[in-house]
Amino acid sequence: MASQAKPAEAEFAAGKVVDRGRSRDSRLEHLPAGKVIDAHTHFFPERMFKAIWEFFEGGRWHIAHKRPPEELARALAENGVGRWTLLNYVKKEGQAAALNAWTAEFAESHPGALPFGTVHAADPDPWAAVAPYLTERGFLGIKLQPLVSEFGVDDPRLVPVLSRLADLDKILVVHTGTAPYANAWVGLDRLARVLDQFPRLRVILPHMGAYELLKALDMLERYPNLYLDTAMTFVNTDLFPANPRLDPALLERWADRILFGSDYPNIPYAYSESLDSIRRLPISEAARQKIFYLNAARLFQIEEEMEESEL
Ligand SMILES: [Zn+2]
Repeated sequence: MASQAKPAEAEFAAGKVVDRGRSRDSRLEHLPAGKVIDAHTHFFPERMFKAIWEFFEGGRWHIAHKRPPEELARALAENGVGRWTLLNYVKKEGQAAALNAWTAEFAESHPGALPFGTVHAADPDPWAAVAPYLTERGFLGIKLQPLVSEFGVDDPRLVPVLSRLADLDKILVVHTGTAPYANAWVGLDRLARVLDQFPRLRVILPHMGAYELLKALDMLERYPNLYLDTAMTFVNTDLFPANPRLDPALLERWADRILFGSDYPNIPYAYSESLDSIRRLPISEAARQKIFYLNAARLFQIEEEMEESEL
């Protein structure tokens, strides 16, 4: 089994830039066009995207998809992705309300978008920055990125936000795993504390909880409203070198709780590699369809497409 080393930001930034180029373009043969939901894509205003891409490129990997948000949305459709989450996050207090307003506007002109808002724990009233978007503008939940915003998901200042999310049946997406690097604000124990406190809260843990994949899979047993997304986990690169090897039987067992995700556009390889990484998994076709589409359709309540699905 590989080590569970957790690089810190400095080591991450000192790593070499990886450019995997473009893998072959491919389409999903076993699912009709549009029958893929990507549960992990990011859309930011161009200025913020630029800052994020500079961070990644100053560190370990090259971003293969530096394009305006409009073109990114089109590229997802061209890859057969019918719906995709719109995830973003803020670095500092005072930024969430404006970003949520941008998200709402972008999502309203892109029917593929599944918008999520964000909050910052240091805001005087974090809930106020996102509440109207959740209740009136169709946001499905919020995304938090403790690596960047420097507060943990178990921060007491977030309690009113998380409790209202649970009451409204909204979803929390939180990158609290330790890949590709760790800081003081991540770790699955923080998430376990939140799930103990809000057992009804539906949570998506990106990257299958990497680098603590096995622990994340264990948590599925204990927390029935926890889901894992596959972003960057099975791709053919060494981007997450401390990932342990997974027994495919575990993926099959938990196929109802795993969502396809890509982390597009912040990836150093072609989008098709994300799709191919799931196609290559030695699991049943039934499990693969759950991962690519059915689980997310259920979780995100995508009813119009469920009607004619082959459930
Ligand atoms: Zn991401």
